[in-house]
Amino acid sequence: MGEEMTTVDMEAIVSLSKRRGFIFQSSEIYGGISGSWDYGPFGVELKRNIKNVWWRDMVQRRDDIVGLDAGILMHPRVWEASGHVEGFTDPLVDCKSCRKRFRADHVKDGRCPECGGELTDPRMFNLMLRTFLGPVEDDASITYLRPETAQGIFVNFANVLDVSRRKLPFGIAQMGKAFRNEITPRNFTFRTREFEQMEIEYFVRPGTDEEWHRRWVTERFEWYVRYGIRREYLRLRQHEGDELAHYAKATFDIEYLFPFGWAELEGISNRTDFDLRQHALFSGRDITYYDEDTGAHVVPYIVEPSGGVDRAALAFLVDAYREEKVRKRKRVVLRFHPELAPIKVAVFPLLRNRPELVTAAKDIASDLRPHMMTMYDDTASIGRLYRRQDEIGTPFCITVDVETLEDNAVTIRERDSMEQIRVPIPEVRHTLLRKLGRL
Ligand code: ATP
Repeated sequence: MGEEMTTVDMEAIVSLSKRRGFIFQSSEIYGGISGSWDYGPFGVELKRNIKNVWWRDMVQRRDDIVGLDAGILMHPRVWEASGHVEGFTDPLVDCKSCRKRFRADHVKDGRCPECGGELTDPRMFNLMLRTFLGPVEDDASITYLRPETAQGIFVNFANVLDVSRRKLPFGIAQMGKAFRNEITPRNFTFRTREFEQMEIEYFVRPGTDEEWHRRWVTERFEWYVRYGIRREYLRLRQHEGDELAHYAKATFDIEYLFPFGWAELEGISNRTDFDLRQHALFSGRDITYYDEDTGAHVVPYIVEPSGGVDRAALAFLVDAYREEKVRKRKRVVLRFHPELAPIKVAVFPLLRNRPELVTAAKDIASDLRPHMMTMYDDTASIGRLYRRQDEIGTPFCITVDVETLEDNAVTIRERDSMEQIRVPIPEVRHTLLRKLGRL
């Protein structure tokens, strides 16, 4: 195993993301657009894997949570009831010299961070992206791209309750795109204008909310550790005073130590009964839970673990990144948890000009493809092929060499230890599935 050389800096992550095809700047050929990023062939796999394990752990493996997929466009009254039209704002300041704009709470000494110029007084700027529905662009057709997925869950509470026949406590999970017109998108994919959220609204009896809040904070913290984030790079931070949102009784952020400092990965809030009461008030509908035991109608309290898929992907990427020295040469490796690794196995022929080796390698790849993301590659020397796979975090590489033609066995190389074992071809699939924890 190689020794570590450096701690990661953001430049290295951005450059690897582009070079290897994790993340590209949106609309790059037109000069790019701020606050929007595109996931390339390996980035999309990483993101899908994160979403899949989240759904599996939060929905499939629990008997108290069901899923939902609500629309991005909703009735504009939703955003009045939720408080977003009135209060989803950030304080904005302009520099009087260079005209750049900043979030007042991100400016340290009251001067422009770019040129040191004088700043205007802060004014409130609504972060929702407005749009018009239908062919007429007037006030009556204004609505918003959802700034959070949560509201789709609240307005469907009664529908889901009806069809799922759940008893409290129970949860509804959803993931999907959300949009915020952030004043200063920055830090790569950390703060963007378009992003994906994964949210659970967990409905509980009033009075049990604080206990459930604690349980969810622990559950979600441990989830990041389970998929490989180093515990000492995670911390909890409680919101205090005016940082607390208007709907929340208490909020804890799970923060990760990014190269640019500690920053929020996920927020876990005790939202009380605020949301269901607001929607009942604005819609005129009865949004309560009928308690068969007591015969009373209850407005449940809500505990909300709300995470960002993109921020999770960035944290997993940053945390997995290592620069090591192996036999005096630098090795860049992404030590992804095997469940998150975009490609599980790569298969190479040692010599690409030997058709028997190429055929054998391609056959092995075809055999593995139905079971795991598999890649065949013969476009470089073996050393370079290994390096490429290390850089995208592939846990296993298989090499077909000349001996294979005699012993019908191949070499499996493990990413982190770089150890190699010889395995008969008929046992390859089984061996990999076992090593990936799937058997
Ligand atoms: P911040 O304080 O960083 O602006 P927030 O507290 O407003 O974030 P929440 O409203 O709690 O964020 O959103 C829940 C989750 O959605 C966040 O923990 C984060 O992972 C994700 N998220 C929110 N805003 C963005 C954004 N602009 N870009 C990427 N992810 C985001």
